[in-house]
Amino acid sequence: MPKTKLLMVGAGLSGAVIGRHLAEAGHEITVVDARSHIGGNCHTERDEKTGVNVHVYGPHIFHTDDGEVWDYVNQFETFMPYKNRVKTTSLDPQGVRGVFSLPINLHTINQFFGKTLRPDEARDFIVNEQADTSINDPQTFEEQAMRFVGKDLYEAFFKGYTIKQWGMHPSELPASILKRLPVRFNYDDNYFFHKYQGMPENGYTAMIEKILDHPSITVKLETVFDRKMGEVFDHVFYSGPLDGYFDYELGRLGYRTLDFERFDFDGDYQGCAVMNYGEESVPYTRITEHKHFSPWEEHDGSVCYREFSRAAEPEDIPYYPIRQVKEKAQLADYVALAEQTEGVTFVGRLGTYRYLDMDVTIREALDTARGFATALETGEKAPAFFVAPV
Ligand code: FAD
Ligand code: UDP
Repeated sequence: MPKTKLLMVGAGLSGAVIGRHLAEAGHEITVVDARSHIGGNCHTERDEKTGVNVHVYGPHIFHTDDGEVWDYVNQFETFMPYKNRVKTTSLDPQGVRGVFSLPINLHTINQFFGKTLRPDEARDFIVNEQADTSINDPQTFEEQAMRFVGKDLYEAFFKGYTIKQWGMHPSELPASILKRLPVRFNYDDNYFFHKYQGMPENGYTAMIEKILDHPSITVKLETVFDRKMGEVFDHVFYSGPLDGYFDYELGRLGYRTLDFERFDFDGDYQGCAVMNYGEESVPYTRITEHKHFSPWEEHDGSVCYREFSRAAEPEDIPYYPIRQVKEKAQLADYVALAEQTEGVTFVGRLGTYRYLDMDVTIREALDTARGFATALETGEKAPAFFVAPV
């Protein structure tokens, strides 16, 4: 295979994993990132005052069913056992504020309705007395919630939170967003269903530093990519925003951004890592207490984030792609433009304008690197996308 000079735009998981794979295949890799650190949005940083490992761009929990991806990350960092157990503060049907367990499970149902139901009784109660069974094929978030848990649980736990998170009524959002959350008729309060779940012992940035640690990889931070930079490379892998690559010539793709209001606490502020707030009148969606993401460590002080969600302005960090009808049409135009552009492959959550969990990002990065290596061997042109964004 001919040795090539490759540019990775972005030192997040996408750039690091593709870069590492192709460095091992004998290519010369340069990684640039506009920020002053590697790790992209998974970046973790030890707080000087408290010693807590802070998830700077919001909490990240690693969970996957993909055995190859799990083995991949474990090569670089020890993963400590961690189960995400989320709590939520909201009002019960009598209007009394309480702390409940999420995702909705038998504990949530019994506490919320003041009952002592066993699993089958709870299932019957939800199906026969709560769920709106007149909805046959739920299309929207609201219909999905009404169909599977009913009005009371929907209004307490999902309606207000979702309006705050997405800035839209749940009747305007797709059912797929809610389908990410299970409903359980037992006391399992694990937020995820995946086979593997854990936290990197020294944080994600330490892991990504090891992925990038290869003699054929050069990392340049505080370096903003422009298209001219790409001209001296044989190929560019771009994990920045797709619309940004084209200087927003077809308009801006819509994103939600997050504001994190940090506060420090002497002791244990909330007793858990993630506390959601279901009421619309509470302006933040959740409070995260970062030391609880590393339960094997001990810290007296605590670092907490109040998390607020709003529409992203041009200068904000883009977090969640909106992907409504308007954005999807705009995305299709950008995809067509990208497909006419040679020498660049768009990757990752921003390059393909999709919400991607870390395990999916790594899976796609490995497949992209392999696909590129095959294209080089066969003399084919590398495509603009190895994974179609629409
Ligand atoms: P990014 O991490 O965004 O990296 C892209 C990099 O490119 C950035 O560092 C950026 O600075 C750089 N860049 C962009 N444009 C340019 C340019 N023009 N020049 C130079 N550099 C540029 N996943 C999970 O599995 N579990 C979780 O619990 C989880 N929680 C999340 C919470 C939030 C709030 C969000 C938004 C995401 C979460 N994710 C989670 C998803 C996770 O963040 C992504 O899977 C991951 O960050 C994707 O990596 P990436 O390399 O594609 O993108
Ligand atoms: N959600 C909610 N209440 C909660 C938690 C989640 O209404 O307490 C909704 C919200 O709309 C969210 C979706 O369920 O976007 C999926 O939850 P997940 O934890 O996957 O949220 P995200 O990754 O979007 O933050």
